[in-house]
Amino acid sequence: EFVQALQLPGTRKDKDREPEISEEERKKMSIQETRKSLPIYKFRDDLLAAIEAHQVLIIEGETGSGKTTQLPQYLYEGGYTEGGMKIGCTQPRRVAAMSVAARVAQEMNWKLGNQVGYSIRFEDCTSERTIIKYMTDGMLLREFLSEPDLASYSVMIIDEAHERTLHTDVLFGLVKDIARFRPDLKLLISSATLDAEKFSEFFDDAPIFRIPGRRFPVDIYYTKAPEADYLDAAVVSVLQIHVTQPPGDILVFLTGQEEIESSNEMLQERTKKLGTKIKELIILPIYANLPSDMQSKIFEPTPPGARKVILATNIAETSLTIDGIKYVIDPGFCKQNSYNARTGMESLIVTPISKASANQRAGRSGRTSAGKCFRLYTAWAYKNELEDNTVPEIQRTNLGNVVLLLKSLGINDLLHFDFMDPPPHETLVLALEQLYALSALNHKGELTTLGRRMAEFPVDPMLSKMILASEKYRCSKEILTVTAMLSVNNAIFYRPKDKVVHADTARQNFFRPGGDHITLLNVYEQWEETGFSTQWCYENFIQHRSMKRARDIRDQLEGLLERVEIEVVSNPGDSIGIRKAVTAGFFYHTARLDKTGNYKTVKHQQTVMVHPNSSLFEDRPRWVIYHELVFTTKEFMRQVIEIENSWLMEVAPHYYKSKELDDKSSRKMPKNTGKAREDVTRTY
Ligand code: ADP
Ligand code: MG
Repeated sequence: EFVQALQLPGTRKDKDREPEISEEERKKMSIQETRKSLPIYKFRDDLLAAIEAHQVLIIEGETGSGKTTQLPQYLYEGGYTEGGMKIGCTQPRRVAAMSVAARVAQEMNWKLGNQVGYSIRFEDCTSERTIIKYMTDGMLLREFLSEPDLASYSVMIIDEAHERTLHTDVLFGLVKDIARFRPDLKLLISSATLDAEKFSEFFDDAPIFRIPGRRFPVDIYYTKAPEADYLDAAVVSVLQIHVTQPPGDILVFLTGQEEIESSNEMLQERTKKLGTKIKELIILPIYANLPSDMQSKIFEPTPPGARKVILATNIAETSLTIDGIKYVIDPGFCKQNSYNARTGMESLIVTPISKASANQRAGRSGRTSAGKCFRLYTAWAYKNELEDNTVPEIQRTNLGNVVLLLKSLGINDLLHFDFMDPPPHETLVLALEQLYALSALNHKGELTTLGRRMAEFPVDPMLSKMILASEKYRCSKEILTVTAMLSVNNAIFYRPKDKVVHADTARQNFFRPGGDHITLLNVYEQWEETGFSTQWCYENFIQHRSMKRARDIRDQLEGLLERVEIEVVSNPGDSIGIRKAVTAGFFYHTARLDKTGNYKTVKHQQTVMVHPNSSLFEDRPRWVIYHELVFTTKEFMRQVIEIENSWLMEVAPHYYKSKELDDKSSRKMPKNTGKAREDVTRTY
């Protein structure tokens, strides 16, 4: 039940508002007509003139005005790629980089990967001929390693700057520095919201170019009382809108793949029950791990008489614009990493969004005509519980990765690096300490040979350390596989609602002594033996596309291993060597079962639990190492292996004192009662 509380005003008064372009008219427009209908089009020449006149320009414009897809094309038309120079454009999200590159290829009638391409981690879709290059902000950071002055670029666009991801924030400092000694390089900072002044100030008062928005009024509705189950409430709201509201597509914001998949199932089920009593409802998911052919479906026009509902993560907030959305459902949450610099614990948490986010989400419904936004929280909660703005990622994440990268770029004094918003001092210090413990830095804080080799790998320092340690333990082949499997983000096992028992049995059949890393290795090796069979995946409730991705990642890592001159060697059946290599990278993540039957992290005595999906959930070995923590009702360790405490002294003598690893009590620990299973919510 909703109450209407306020209207998010359109940016223009009703009388001088541009006529609405109906969806029917829009569908008939050719691609070139569509390009010309975008708000940015009228400013094409002014923009090119402003870019010509200034080295750094801040560009601000409503989401969907055409910044990401049009700017690089205008620059190309304006001659900025002459002499083989490239136009680069960064994106905080992989999906956005792929999707906009595909769109530009279509608009220019080019083949994707030729003149226009994209580069994301573990996937390079560019060629010698590429002149417009979309890439994730993380990939541009890595490009600095091979091309510190970005010499092959004539223009660099730091896009979606308002998202303030860690990598974008680091890029700000780097590109600002480069602009000083490369006067021919044009720098465009483009952003959706009102942070333009802040960006301008940071870039020595660079001028701001504002593209006036075309936004229609949006009616905002709140729930009368808080929703106990926002996923169910979202599903009910979709159906209510579908049955009672005039045509127009629906966009639902959820926190991740799991929520999207379960609400997809719920919607399928309930619409099936309603049968022909309702019009056709086309349900389309969009999230980072979705294969690209399915990603592009969200852009296909809705057939007459039907309605589209898009179940999206934050990706649809500003990175991707889907035309035809008239209704937005906003449960008010997103998944964020949070980091405790005191304990070094990092965790993914479902967190309430900020007011700025809520307003962006609402705005998605008013792009082509007046819209409605249904917030699944109360007006009181909006006013009193939501922060004004999202905290920039740099202030709530582990900095190990970027510190290692910056050190590799020769930037030694990180405390004085030009950050727009500096990270907390203690976070920076902890990152330096961790890199020292991993032997990537020496006691003077300088990069070691090991650290330099670690920086070659586009993965977190703990993972790259683990990869390099596999040389000593003669198991680089297995560790490559383990790394690749860990990188596909818990998307290996498939658990359809109607076959839970079968799926769980299939999963348990893969369990191997030693723990989850060994189990993942086993899955991959069995798949490899079948000649990478799709059918085998299907029969064993394994997600084939995740496996294919793991194989791609594995191939890339193998190439990098050659670069650091490590041989690919294997020691079949030696799980100890593999687990020692993991320990060499992840000794920070050690937990011990204490006398009361709880796991506590060794350094900080934080209580953590084995995730119920882990192969070690019942065994409960005394010493374990976890890959990551996920917080729902408690801190759960996901991907766990059993280790021996003596290994810790072997791999990290400078980090652990033998007293800490003292292990006198060897009495048998109580078996798990299964209670923890109840604590796991469906966010998995
Ligand atoms: P901005 O960056 O200002 O938010 P974009 O350049 O991303 O705007 O979007 C401009 C237009 O291009 C939007 O109308 C959007 O729907 C369309 N568009 C972008 N990507 C695609 C795609 N992959 N397929 C179809 N249309 C797209
Ligand atoms: Mg954009």
